[in-house]
Amino acid sequence: VSAIWVGYPKSYTPGRARPVQYVVLHYTAGAEGPTAAEDGADYDKRRTDGTSTHYFTDSLGPALQEVPDGDRAHTAFFHGNEIGIQIEICGTRQTREQWLDAASYPTLVTTAELVRELCDRHGLAKRRLTTAEVRAAYYATPAIRAACKGITDHAGVTYAYPEDGGTHTDVGDGFPWDVFMEMVVADDKPITEEHDMVIVQKAGGQYVLQLTVAGWVLEHIGADHSTVLQGGGVKVCDYHGDDLAVLGVPVAEAREGFAAQIAAAVVASLPPGQGGEAPTLAEITAAVRAELDKTKLSV
Ligand SMILES: [Zn+2]
Repeated sequence: VSAIWVGYPKSYTPGRARPVQYVVLHYTAGAEGPTAAEDGADYDKRRTDGTSTHYFTDSLGPALQEVPDGDRAHTAFFHGNEIGIQIEICGTRQTREQWLDAASYPTLVTTAELVRELCDRHGLAKRRLTTAEVRAAYYATPAIRAACKGITDHAGVTYAYPEDGGTHTDVGDGFPWDVFMEMVVADDKPITEEHDMVIVQKAGGQYVLQLTVAGWVLEHIGADHSTVLQGGGVKVCDYHGDDLAVLGVPVAEAREGFAAQIAAAVVASLPPGQGGEAPTLAEITAAVRAELDKTKLSV
């Protein structure tokens, strides 16, 4: 289960007139941290401004749920509330780098896990809808509406329904949609030797980073920074995606994001191979360990 029920907020609307069409991401414009979701749910039981959400997510999963999916939460004006499931990400507007830092990255993991489950539960496509699709999700014919089910954010809703007069633009331009969507679809892709970097959050908020260096599995455990090697080889792969680099060869197509940062830094820190030879295992190990320590993955 990716969410814990914490009881109804003061404000919500029972039932829905229309089925769910999309998940709407928000940020709370409040604090980050492992108890931020609990604080948000507590506040929604007291606040008198008619605001609520379906879910809160923070750095320590799982998510908290205060409104059932089949009821309407109050956070995005008429259209967004009518056909959306609202997720409040605890935190505020951030740059891409800040969203991907040690304080916020675990929150993305918690949120992606919830979004993945909601998409499966409600038959939503695991993709970000365009503004036109968000509008069509309410106004188009049933056949077209069926093709406009997916993921958006508060900004998407604001732009799609100008008649509602909304002004909120969360989750903001800095939100790392590419990294986030890779997390959302992660479990749908088989993990093979070609898809070798895995970041998983474990119980208690601890998380583990695994990457395969052409068969060498490095497991980095957030709590104690221990690193374990098994197997052999010299290749760094992207998070469930394309190869980022073969060590000793420039990173040609490194995508932005967390995995790319680590892979590029590891490649850059390795000594050039002698006569085209790959670096030694000891050199690879030291470089990966140094980079993992620099990312401060522990929580
Ligand atoms: Zn919002």
